[in-house]
Amino acid sequence: MDAEVTAVDDTRNTSTKNSGSTDAFDGRKVCVAGLGVSGPPVARALLARGARVSVVDGRDDDTVRPVADALREAGAEVILGGTPLPEDCDVVVTSPGWRPTSPLLVRAAEAGIEVIGDVELAWRLKPADQVWLAVTGTNGKTTTVRMLEAMLRADGRDALAVGNVGTPVIDAVLPDADGHVHDILAVELSSFQLHWSSSVRPHAAVVLNVAPDHLDWHGGLEPYARAKGRVFARGTIRVVNTTDDWSSRLAREDGDPHAPMVGFGPDTPKAGGLGVVEDLLVDRAFVSEPHDNAEELATLDDVRPAAPHNVANALAAAALARSVGVAPGSVRAGLAAFEPEPHRIAFVATVGGVDYVDDSKATNPHAAAASLGAYPSVVWVAGGLLKGAEVDELVRMAADRLRGAVLIGADRARLRRALTEHAPKVPLIEVEAEGVPEGRTVMDEVVAAASSLAQEGDTVLLAPAAASMDMFTDYPERGRLFAEAVERML
Ligand code: ADP
Repeated sequence: MDAEVTAVDDTRNTSTKNSGSTDAFDGRKVCVAGLGVSGPPVARALLARGARVSVVDGRDDDTVRPVADALREAGAEVILGGTPLPEDCDVVVTSPGWRPTSPLLVRAAEAGIEVIGDVELAWRLKPADQVWLAVTGTNGKTTTVRMLEAMLRADGRDALAVGNVGTPVIDAVLPDADGHVHDILAVELSSFQLHWSSSVRPHAAVVLNVAPDHLDWHGGLEPYARAKGRVFARGTIRVVNTTDDWSSRLAREDGDPHAPMVGFGPDTPKAGGLGVVEDLLVDRAFVSEPHDNAEELATLDDVRPAAPHNVANALAAAALARSVGVAPGSVRAGLAAFEPEPHRIAFVATVGGVDYVDDSKATNPHAAAASLGAYPSVVWVAGGLLKGAEVDELVRMAADRLRGAVLIGADRARLRRALTEHAPKVPLIEVEAEGVPEGRTVMDEVVAAASSLAQEGDTVLLAPAAASMDMFTDYPERGRLFAEAVERML
């Protein structure tokens, strides 16, 4: 873990950019599978490159029809209400969420047609000298790419965060309306996108952590983790979380053994790593003479929200930023400029000496464990759709911190069983969606139940460890309704 990093690219002076492989798709027939988030921008990018494009989606309803019409107008063929493999396809670009077992993708594989995802396509179309810094992991991706973007910009770089939140990666590799393409991308990559990528080679990449999630899609933890390991390509600087077994293992086993490996963790860093010394974030990798020198990057107070897992996110972002020569002062300035995303350990209010915190984005047990670990005495609001995840370890780990628990959602019986077994003294209240009195919302009931269990100095924490769709439209709605219910108590 203590490889020294000496060769560091400096992309600051990139002024003109080579355009990508402009004619790679000219005249080729491309099937775009799926009209979801990535499909329309992918189809447009391909049309702009002279490809013949057929878009296919099994749905045929009011959501997809207007999108289909717009694409037809732009020159694509669009097939709705079925998923046949169009004739003469040279390549299929799939929506990352489509399972490899989808009939169209199976037929393409049988016919020997290459199947790639939106990220792979973007990589093939990007300008040759556009630098990618990649972030993957089960939790913390969005926060880390946003912190990285802020650090790069504070350093005067022409950088953009792309991925799930905000700009799709495909839109950031083609010139915008003014003919501009960004120099550096902070790219958030999901395990699905990596599954469908083959030649993507970031300058530096991090696997923040790996914990069970999306196991039904990938068919188990090992294939899920290995998909993430693809981010460590040939020549890619390997940034690894020294406290996460999978992160280090993937870098060792799936990364390029000749590429530098930079560890980050919560303790004093070894030469070749980043870490924490007292209240300082410190770099001993991207410095001259790492055996003798260390560079101070920021203080723990600069990291918001203040929680141990978020210090890890900040260190990962700092390592990626430093890999392209960002100055220490810009790391700190970036953290100061960083605006925490909503519903991620977002403080809502203090009522009667009790803090209420919205971490609705904690949609799996690993994320919930991180936020429970950040507070000493918690009334935990949990439950929803567990997506097959186990909760025993989470409950065992959190038991000592729990003042009480309020359970909601479809899979709450699993949480109840785990709490009864591993935290039998912790009082539980279950709130059902049905039977909420007239004029009140289910979150009014949840917040009232939580406040009845809380004592002064406690934190009521919405960190459900589960997806929200059984009761809410999505996790932002769940968080917003929680916050509104808290505010009604003020
Ligand atoms: P992602 O984009 O990977 O879903 P986010 O930055 O949106 O990650 O954070 C999602 C949730 O995961 C947060 O609400 C928080 O509870 C938790 N989280 C964030 N960073 C980490 C981390 N490094 N380790 C564990 N959990 C984390």
